[in-house]
Amino acid sequence: MPALAASAAAAPPDPAADAAADSGACALQVLHEVFGYPAFRGAQQAIVGHVAAGGDALVLMPTGGGKSLCYQVPAIVRHRAGRGVTVVVSPLIALMHDQVGALAELGVAAAFLNSTLDGDEARRVERELLAGRLVLLYAAPERLLTPRFLAMLDSLRERGRLALFAIDEAHCVSQWGHDFRAEYLGLSALHERYPEVPRIALTATADAHTRADIVQRLALHDARQFVSSFDRPNIRYTIVEKADARAQLLRFLRDEHDGDAGIVYCQSRRKVDETAEWLNAQGVPALPYHAGLDTATRRRNQDRFLREEGLVMVATIAFGMGIDKPDVRFVAHLDLPKNIEGYYQETGRAGRDGLPADAWMAYGLADVVNQRRMIDDSEADETFKRLQRGKLDALLALAEAHDCRRVRLLAYFGEPSGPCGNCDNCLQPPATWDATEAARKALSCIYRFRQHGGSGFGAGHLIDVLRGKTTDKVHQHGHERLSTFGIGADVSESQWRGVLRQLIALGHVRAEGEWNTLALADSARAVLRAEVRLELRVPSDARHGAGSARRAGKAGKADKAPPLPLDDAAAARFAALKAWRAEVARAHNVPAYVVFHDATLAEMARTRPATPEALAGISGVGSKKLDAYGEAILHVLAG
Ligand code: ADP
Ligand code: ZN
Repeated sequence: MPALAASAAAAPPDPAADAAADSGACALQVLHEVFGYPAFRGAQQAIVGHVAAGGDALVLMPTGGGKSLCYQVPAIVRHRAGRGVTVVVSPLIALMHDQVGALAELGVAAAFLNSTLDGDEARRVERELLAGRLVLLYAAPERLLTPRFLAMLDSLRERGRLALFAIDEAHCVSQWGHDFRAEYLGLSALHERYPEVPRIALTATADAHTRADIVQRLALHDARQFVSSFDRPNIRYTIVEKADARAQLLRFLRDEHDGDAGIVYCQSRRKVDETAEWLNAQGVPALPYHAGLDTATRRRNQDRFLREEGLVMVATIAFGMGIDKPDVRFVAHLDLPKNIEGYYQETGRAGRDGLPADAWMAYGLADVVNQRRMIDDSEADETFKRLQRGKLDALLALAEAHDCRRVRLLAYFGEPSGPCGNCDNCLQPPATWDATEAARKALSCIYRFRQHGGSGFGAGHLIDVLRGKTTDKVHQHGHERLSTFGIGADVSESQWRGVLRQLIALGHVRAEGEWNTLALADSARAVLRAEVRLELRVPSDARHGAGSARRAGKAGKADKAPPLPLDDAAAARFAALKAWRAEVARAHNVPAYVVFHDATLAEMARTRPATPEALAGISGVGSKKLDAYGEAILHVLAG
């Protein structure tokens, strides 16, 4: 007999493994019955089995990876086994509301305790909790650590009714993370007070440093770590050069996302307001969101974005944390984010439902100059500035890249991968040109300016001189007499902008003062001596650069996944189902996607099930929803 079988026979029984196998079977049943999903995704199965069997876990999964199920399924399994309630710690009130609403639709007893409840409501939730009727209770960290709440937990524990602690957004415990919350530090008390209760901590953003910090501060040394791939294969990354950014955005929206919900990120409040107004004037329904708006307006706009279909949210980065709307079809950046972490987090809000989505960004010379300046002018110390510059450089390298964007993104997070087939560079590999000589010409021209007139000049004038354009300004300064006048006539204006972007991005040139006049940095010498080679992408002209690669007609991997397109008859059924869903969502006061995801409706429209059994076979149709809505859906489909 092979050694394997023998050793398996000789191995002592492992009760923990048995328990995990048992709870794994229950977990699958819960997934089918309650959530109506056919299978777990990625690491979910392993995580759910481990936690349902009473193990501790630290889970790293990208946004949209499906973290909620990792604690919701164990919560249901453990509640069914008589172990009581799962307490979910979350810093985000909006998220608690949404999750509790979604669980109610699934027929799972859940509630939240936070500052939005009045005294009577809070007491009602507490009664439900103590009576053991709740499967999940969501609470803000500061609430959890009050004597009153801890007394309730004590009482549950005494009766063996404390099933699990789930700590969402676990990176909030770390000062290294980007979203530290002091209240999270107190959460280590849970382990000290209830060491026998299993815990699962989850986050979408944790580099190695932050991860170690989470383990340390939450005392998760013995927890199993589940680190998922950070890839979001359904998101298509496209970065275009800015020409007329608004017009480019509008074309992108009209050509590829007509009627879709999405987010447009801008850097300043003013730009948010102006862009939202402008989009509305162009017939694209858009709402603004930034910290300068009053709370009521912000909440109203966020609510509308979640509940209505096809709205575009124009926002600063103040918007997005805790927004788990699954059908955001695009995230567009009109300004450069601060770093790759920010970019990945913001773009990660697209396509949580797994259907194709776009991450689109327009960036240009001014972005590079601005971001550099913001770092240089900040009050921070030199070490911090160096760190920020390093992060900006990585982002600029991504923007200028002529190879696969995803490979670079994942590499940044320490994950090796191969060309993805679903980014602009994979779909339409850009041509490159050797810009070493051009860069030297630009540098010597900047040098001549200084020699000649003393003061420096900006990028526009530099390009005019290099291309040999006789403008008023050229005359005024006698620059047509410079030896560098016209030496770059063979290089197009947009190519020159690319060269300057690179030189500034690489730190060989600085933009200084109010007018962003250009000056050489010490490192420019190496370029002048041709010790540094510059290989740049040939700029796609503004027309091609405006949209994403999808219009080029080359289908990427992700195009195979979507339930759409539907034929005409199915599309009509899809529309009828959406209209029905909108009514239900209004009546239940929940966002439409809480009733059913688009993907589920599209599948119904396409396969047109005629019986409850057939309907139950569609992903996203659990038993509660089948009971509640089955008849109505079959009616719509028959009509
Ligand atoms: P995260 O919190 O990691 O950002 P969510 O928990 O919100 O992600 O899940 C993202 C989306 O994927 C949700 O709409 C969820 O219903 C869906 N989802 C998660 N797991 C599965 C699965 N196994 N099968 C089908 N859909 C899933
Ligand atoms: Zn790629």
